[in-house]
Amino acid sequence: MNKPITRRRVLLTGAIATAAVAVSRVANAEGVKLALDDPQAVALGYVEDAAKVDTAKFPRYQAGQNCETCSLYQPGEGGWGGCSIFAGKQVAAAGWCNVFAPKA
Ligand code: SF4
Repeated sequence: MNKPITRRRVLLTGAIATAAVAVSRVANAEGVKLALDDPQAVALGYVEDAAKVDTAKFPRYQAGQNCETCSLYQPGEGGWGGCSIFAGKQVAAAGWCNVFAPKA
């Protein structure tokens, strides 16, 4: 026998569904921070602080460049955002890598 659908049950189900969608959106927006020892990050000289770029290895770097001013950066929250080079990962707004492409 089915339980009767009560107003409370409808509200509770709606609240759970809303919370699940909100959690899902946060997870997608945040992603995982790009590890500094990620092989692709190492190959491209990624750093979380552009001031720490090894300019001997990566002479393309110029003062003032960072992920936040890169056309491939997708702003997120808390100083982190997405990057189309490192799909599914978050890079630091203050970071940099050798693929840096200035915003137009
Ligand atoms: Fe940062 Fe741009 Fe390199 Fe992505 S491509 S890590 S946004 S500098």
